[in-house]
This record gives sequence, C-alpha cells and structure tokens, in this order.
Amino acid sequence: MPAQPVVGVLALQGDVREHLVSLAACDVLARPVRRPEELAECDGLVLPGGESTTMSRLLETFELLEPLRKRLADGMPAYGSCAGMILLAGQVLDGRADQQQLGAIDMVVRRNAFGRQVDSFESELDVTGIPGGPVHAVFIRAPWVESVADGVEVLARVPDIPASGDAAGRIVAVRQGSVLATSFHPELTGDERVHRLFVETVRAA
Ligand code: GLN
Repeated sequence: MPAQPVVGVLALQGDVREHLVSLAACDVLARPVRRPEELAECDGLVLPGGESTTMSRLLETFELLEPLRKRLADGMPAYGSCAGMILLAGQVLDGRADQQQLGAIDMVVRRNAFGRQVDSFESELDVTGIPGGPVHAVFIRAPWVESVADGVEVLARVPDIPASGDAAGRIVAVRQGSVLATSFHPELTGDERVHRLFVETVRAA
C-alpha cells in the first residue's frame, strides 16, 4: 500500500462532503465513490449518513451492490455512520421490505430507533479505542444496535442515566474485524478521532 492509503466515501447520497473533509485531516487520499472502477481503487470505504433506503436503491442503480458485497467479503475495511451503519448490518428492524443489507457486521439494528418525535439526540460517549476523553455524539434519526453476534465488539453504549431516556445503555458503536460502525455522526462535530481509528484499520489491512 502507498504511504497514503486511498479511502473512498460512498457518494450516492448523504453527508459525503463532511466525511471527505474528516478523512483529509487523517493523512489519506479521500475520494468520492460512485462507480465500480472507483471502488476498485479504494483501500477502505466510508458509508455516510443519509437515508439507508435511498442509498440501498442507488447501490443497485449504480451497479455497486454486488461489487461492494464482494470487496467486503474479501476483507476491505469499511466504516458506516448512521445510515451507513444500517447498510452494513446483517439485519434491520423497521426498515423497508426491499431494503438491501450488506451483511458486513453480524448485528441487528433498529432504524429510526431514537424516536420519531425527537429527531435528534446528543450524548457524551466513552468509545473503546478512542483516547483523549469522551466523544460528543450527535444522533440524527439514528439507528441503535439491538443485538450483536459473537465476534462483534461493542465499542460504545449510550450512558445508562435518566437523561438518556429510552436510549439508555443502547449499543451505538461496534466493530467486527476491520468493519466499524457508529449510530452517530463524527463527521459533523469536527472531531476526527473516529475517522483516525478507522484509518488505523485501513493502514493495518
Ligand atoms: N434514518 C435514516 C435511515 O434510515 C438514517 C439517518 C441518518 O443517517 N442521519 O437511513
């Protein structure tokens, strides 16, 4: 691998630009990915926040679904935030019947879990593998992880305090092998530590 790995951001829909900015701060070549040829050039891929049902449909339209499944099966590192987490999951609850799953993390996620009236939620999270104190996590119509299989590491849970409401104790960051997922959006808070954690995985792969 060259000194600077190529890390793509799936650029079909969602907050692509914010992830490109966060990655650029981590000393990698960050590129948008819309075509199979662009995916083939990547050493790792970020799946952004946005709308998982729309991204699922566009993955099929852009003929990226099967190439992406194959790269993931071959061990390409990936990181999904929010809608990206939903896409990476093996199973989604409250999804659309025709929504496609990449199945890269053996977990069940619940879409729009943080409630329909309250669209966003913020919390301070201790995240395993991230030094330097808690991460300020912003959740926007976010999923949480209902359950994980053996082999999936839980990296963060919402603090189990009354202020967390129904989300108290819920799993919101996980890793399986070289695939990472968070319910929240580190690309929106100017804190690159989650992207750095992912880039370490890409460099190690
Ligand atoms: N609710 C969206 C979905 O189902 C995710 C929201 C987000 O990515 N901010 O895909």
